[in-house]
Amino acid sequence: MIYPLVNWAQIAQSAGVLDPAYEAQFHALHPGTDHNGQIILPGQRDNGDRDLGWKLTAVSDGQIVAAGFYPVFGNIALLAFTAPDGRRWWAQYAHARRLLVKPGQWVKAGEVIGGMGKGADNAFPSHLHFEIRRDPPSVVSPDCWPSAKFRDRASAVAFIQRHYVVDQAAWFKFYGAASVNVPLSLIQLQ
Ligand SMILES: [Zn+2]
Repeated sequence: MIYPLVNWAQIAQSAGVLDPAYEAQFHALHPGTDHNGQIILPGQRDNGDRDLGWKLTAVSDGQIVAAGFYPVFGNIALLAFTAPDGRRWWAQYAHARRLLVKPGQWVKAGEVIGGMGKGADNAFPSHLHFEIRRDPPSVVSPDCWPSAKFRDRASAVAFIQRHYVVDQAAWFKFYGAASVNVPLSLIQLQ
């Protein structure tokens, strides 16, 4: 498994939702994890747009099942793949500034599939919104786009924690005990 952003060792993982107004604004639970492309400096909530265009990479060999524009999310790519435990998933990359893949295309783990962006209408600070969805989904819409069907979403946090080795010592050294609930950075590839 490959972390969904390049230069993973330099990445600071946010607390999961970079825009705290998201749920109030969109009247929906935030369904994924938000990833910065650069380290968050002390005292900052995010790194602004310094990581705009940061490369997004395929977490595994797999096939792009959808790629295009969607309201609020902006550009989205959905990658169908098999995890090391044999289960099938879709990884959803949202808010992309641009996409380099097309539906039906096969990609290799680590292949660059797009660049980090700010969502539709530049609604957010630059980040990757990453979701893990079940394959096959319980409801298949013609275009496979996200919908209000949250039941097909799995926990991206749990998925990352299961499939990546987190260097806890490095995390605490960098972020301190206050970050105990977000140990999703400084990740070693497997
Ligand atoms: Zn998000």
